[in-house]
Amino acid sequence: MPSPLEPPLIKANDLLSRYPFLPQTREWLNVLSADENITLEMLISDPYMEPARNRGKLRLIEMITHSGGVDMESTSDIYTREGQLMEVYSYLFAKLIICSAADEILVSRWAQAEAELAEKRLSIEGENLEVIAKTYIDKLRHEPSDFSNRKKIYDGRNIRKFGYKRGIWKIGIIDFIELCSNISGSRWRLPNHELEHGWVTLWDEEIYSSDAQLSRLLREKIKVEIQRDAREQIEKLGDDKIPGLEKYVDMIKDTLGDFKKKELELSRVDQEDWPPCMHKAITELARGVNVNHTGRFFLASMASKIGMPQKDAIAFFSNAPDFSEATTSYQVGQIYEMDYTPTSCEKMKLGSNCAVEFGDDTLCDKEWLKNPVQYVAVKQGWKGKQTSNKNEN
Ligand code: SF4
Repeated sequence: MPSPLEPPLIKANDLLSRYPFLPQTREWLNVLSADENITLEMLISDPYMEPARNRGKLRLIEMITHSGGVDMESTSDIYTREGQLMEVYSYLFAKLIICSAADEILVSRWAQAEAELAEKRLSIEGENLEVIAKTYIDKLRHEPSDFSNRKKIYDGRNIRKFGYKRGIWKIGIIDFIELCSNISGSRWRLPNHELEHGWVTLWDEEIYSSDAQLSRLLREKIKVEIQRDAREQIEKLGDDKIPGLEKYVDMIKDTLGDFKKKELELSRVDQEDWPPCMHKAITELARGVNVNHTGRFFLASMASKIGMPQKDAIAFFSNAPDFSEATTSYQVGQIYEMDYTPTSCEKMKLGSNCAVEFGDDTLCDKEWLKNPVQYVAVKQGWKGKQTSNKNEN
């Protein structure tokens, strides 16, 4: 989907630094670099730029661990020149490392994490949302609601509860279809939207404002643009290396390698790393609640996957109203023997075995989380990272 040829003018520097990937940021950044005498060498090694480098590293660690989303808040005041400078250069520093690493997995993870951060910020931008949306979408219009109906929904964690209720967005059908093509879920299918004269309406729903829905669509476009930009830079760099970045490139490659290794090391799993649905099934069984077939299969297969002794898995069921040691031992034994993959999150939700609503658990809210096993893998990877950080201090 091509972006509009002439992106709208953005004069607010705080806005440009919150969305440093915007095409409009480039010109401002050139002026800023000249005014402040900031060079590439300074960004990489000068003590003055350390806050930017630290936040840049944070942006990169998040993309690998998916720990909790890059913090929405900048570490410095975004309404000051220095705060804007640090935020925009933190993005540039992260981009330099990614392009120097020239690794497609890193490019993709980084673009995803940055686009998710942008989505969160956009959904609470209010009136500024329009100028950013029109940078990427040609056919777009806003129908404001009465001032008296305006309502801000924001609970700090739940993206669907982010955003202002300010009226409704309408988007051209071609743009809508293209932006939705990689988004899963029936919500984003065309037949589930009102369509009139080539315009698709994003209704302001009780817990999913029209602003938040448009921000979700923009996230897809932003991700593609960030990836495209990074690939172009990688090509331009070729075999050249940027002096001073080697240690950061090694750090990010090592972090990715360690994380992948830990994703596979599921055998020593602490209870605090169990997903909420596992705690729910165990608690219900302990209270004598009759957990359904989906929940029982899930619990046994999950216990098997995380390397729990078979007798411990059988013990989970001992308080079930219909418990028979012989039958349970046989069934659990079969599941261990067959090494089944635990039930997917989608099926868990359908069977009322999922323990969370959107917003209850940051990790469960991630779109890429398809199976509770991933939950454990991510928690373990994250913990590994924290431990190694501690060891370094
Ligand atoms: S989203 Fe998945 S991992 Fe999280 S509680 Fe529900 S089923 Fe378990």
